Amino acid sequence: MAYSIIEIVEVFKELGVLDVPAGKAYKSSRELIIRPEDRIEHLATDSRKISFAATSLFFALKTASRDGKDFVWQAYENGVRNFVLQDSAGLQIEPYINEMPEANLVFVTDTTLALQKLVGFHRRQFSYPVIGITGSNGKTVVKEWLNYLLEERFSIVRSPRSFNSQIGVPISVWEMNEQDELGIFEAGISTVGEMRKLQEIIRPTIGILTNIGDAHDSGFESKKQKLVEKLLLFKNAQVLFYNSEDDWIKKEVTVFFENSATRLMRIGKDKGADIRLSDIALEQNDQKVQNRQKQTTSITAEIQGTKEGNSSFKFNIPFTDSAAIQNAGICLAVSKYLGLDLDVFAQKAAALPAIDMRLQVLPAINRCSVINDSYSLDQHSLQVALDLLNQQLPSKTLILSDIPGLKEHEKEVAYQQMAGIIHNKQVHRLITIGPEWKNAAGQLNVPVLEQYDSTVAFTSSFQPGRFKDEAILLKGARRFQFERIFNLLQEKVHQTRLEINLTAIVHNQKLYRSLLKPGVKMMAMVKAFAYGSGLLEMASVLQYHHIDYLAVAYADEGVALRNGGITVPVMVMNVDEYGFETLISHQLEPEIYSFRILKQFIDFLNSQGLSQYPVHIKLDTGMHRLGFDPKEVPKLAALLSQQRSVYVKSAFSHFTSSEDEADDQFTLKQGHLLVQGCDQLEKALGYSFIRHIANTAAIARFPQFQLDMVRLGIGLYGINTTHENLPIRTVATLKATIAQIKELAAGETVGYNRKGKVEEKTRIATIRIGYADGFSRLLSNGNGKVLLHGKRCPVIGNVCMDMTMININQAPEAKEGDEVEIFGAELPVQEMAAASATTSYEVFTSIGQRINRIYVED
Ligand SMILES: *Cc1c(COP(=O)(O)O)cnc(C)c1O
Repeated sequence: MAYSIIEIVEVFKELGVLDVPAGKAYKSSRELIIRPEDRIEHLATDSRKISFAATSLFFALKTASRDGKDFVWQAYENGVRNFVLQDSAGLQIEPYINEMPEANLVFVTDTTLALQKLVGFHRRQFSYPVIGITGSNGKTVVKEWLNYLLEERFSIVRSPRSFNSQIGVPISVWEMNEQDELGIFEAGISTVGEMRKLQEIIRPTIGILTNIGDAHDSGFESKKQKLVEKLLLFKNAQVLFYNSEDDWIKKEVTVFFENSATRLMRIGKDKGADIRLSDIALEQNDQKVQNRQKQTTSITAEIQGTKEGNSSFKFNIPFTDSAAIQNAGICLAVSKYLGLDLDVFAQKAAALPAIDMRLQVLPAINRCSVINDSYSLDQHSLQVALDLLNQQLPSKTLILSDIPGLKEHEKEVAYQQMAGIIHNKQVHRLITIGPEWKNAAGQLNVPVLEQYDSTVAFTSSFQPGRFKDEAILLKGARRFQFERIFNLLQEKVHQTRLEINLTAIVHNQKLYRSLLKPGVKMMAMVKAFAYGSGLLEMASVLQYHHIDYLAVAYADEGVALRNGGITVPVMVMNVDEYGFETLISHQLEPEIYSFRILKQFIDFLNSQGLSQYPVHIKLDTGMHRLGFDPKEVPKLAALLSQQRSVYVKSAFSHFTSSEDEADDQFTLKQGHLLVQGCDQLEKALGYSFIRHIANTAAIARFPQFQLDMVRLGIGLYGINTTHENLPIRTVATLKATIAQIKELAAGETVGYNRKGKVEEKTRIATIRIGYADGFSRLLSNGNGKVLLHGKRCPVIGNVCMDMTMININQAPEAKEGDEVEIFGAELPVQEMAAASATTSYEVFTSIGQRINRIYVED
């Protein structure tokens, strides 16, 4: 659906969010609209993720970590012509008018609010049913399952992935169109006051409250407050489906809807539930899926008060966990309410898909990486997945199936639009699978196009050599069974792996940025293979999220960054005279720490006829590792003043123990020495440079030393080394698998030199990790523990080079092939570090190169 920009301005005016830039000579907003005929079909909030520039309206949102007005230029350069801005203090409107002569500028009081109000208006244009889902867990699963169950009956518009935030909800609901017949949207909140806004956007006619966790969230005073806030979503719903046997929840829900017309439908295992789930039984099945016995649960649902009286109905789901049973119960109730035939429900429920909304980037054959997103296919999820693809290796292939579930008259437009997305996102090679793409080939504009009629046609002519050094995205509707393609592409590897959560990295980067005073720059430390997480992968994500600087220890690491397409400035900390040529040819900026290296570098630059090369001066304020003594600053200043080969880009020092209260006096002294040294140097040189000293711990503990830039290291990788309470997210999870399980009798021994003595009958498991992988030998004989089925299992005997034995008496359900967590969110790496007499820094950087790094987003 499209609106003209003028219509949108009118909507803003009516809803009371329109503004004119204060203190300027504009009387009305119309004066800033120079292209009144522009049509708006898409909303954009991220200048890097725009698919249809000409018909997009860009909202410059202001958040804690960034101000969208700084990215307006980039959006303009990419072809966007319509902008919504807010007149934040100090905004100069002239540069926008002068440098974006073709742009329509719409000023509002608050860009986020304007986005929400506009979409609220859009929502009110439609009268078909809309399902709103909230709860602590299961929102996305219920949404995807309902979509799967109902997609043949209704043309459905729904939130992509887990888009459920204050921005994600409006972006999702904007996709509502006249052709749709049912909307399914999820809403997530983190504090009081947010749900009211989401309610006005989604306006659900059918409400679903999934599981409410008992966890006490930091944004709420109590779990009651959290529940009541969530219920606000269903204020005007005709019916609410919820899932609980908890008395306090039943009570609060009843009280909340006391005088309202909303019908309450409770699903539960107890008597008195409107839909009662009973006779829940695990069933073994002969069918095997990927070599695992497939387990199903059979459930009887007793439905109260139907036209025919109470009725009872039995179905199976291919899951056994209690969350899945609850979610399936909700889906049954809603499907029935929407008129789905119960036999059709039962047939589909038996094949409910597993929903893993995380997009994983996995290593693939011939140094490729592969993203497998072959659960569903629609425009929105394609765009999201292509954005992730764009952060990977430079060469990109998309393997795409026909679009499912289209009515005949919708096809032409749908294929045309998807072809547009593919063109705009700059896919290099497109492989289409299915006959409909063959018909639509004329619309495809890509450098390389290959087309197949079916998945089998592709797999039977598959040649591994045709995929090399590229990132591959698999995007297909379920019935095309792209898992077959995935199996061909995936690298079969040693199953021990380090999972790096990219979403957590970005979260931590933003978190630390929010602690910085305005204008302070951030350098990210990516030395030592980015603390073990993967140099290029980390640098690409950081660059994408606008890091100001990167730092590595040695020139070779800098070369790897440049060869991998990293363009942000890079500081190299430990340089020697043999590396000068490499530095210069890769635009790497050296740390200068002594007169010897400074003179050598100046001589080298002279010999090459180069001048004004940026360098970073290191002062030694107490670490006594590298750097000039602050007493040497006058002599250094004199030398620097006499030459033009280098210029000082920054001067810095490094704290020895900024995390340790016992050394706070020493930290203060170091900070003051650096500031004094910089003052002296600037005065003598007659120009200013960037000053920096704060590492992760100092950012929070010594904000007065954030100066012009901070150097973020371990905090980015998920470790809080201070006692400050910061919501840092775990980034790295190391996992290994069980190769074999044995039962030993009392008196037997385990491992080299028989150090593991078995005192009673014991089950042990051999796991695929050893000291060559960084699992220290100090963890032998009970010092180290790993997590198996939620239980801490101790190491038994000595750790071997490639394998380790653990005592698994506490985890009787364990079987061969199961995964153990070596460290991660459930078992903090600090515990393993303490047990092996070291720090998390050393644990991270000791993880062997043979362990695959796998990157996930959530
Ligand atoms: C490694 C390093 C840092 C980062 O320290 P963290 O404690 O990991 O934040 C900062 N500055 C220098 C010079 C470093 O070598």
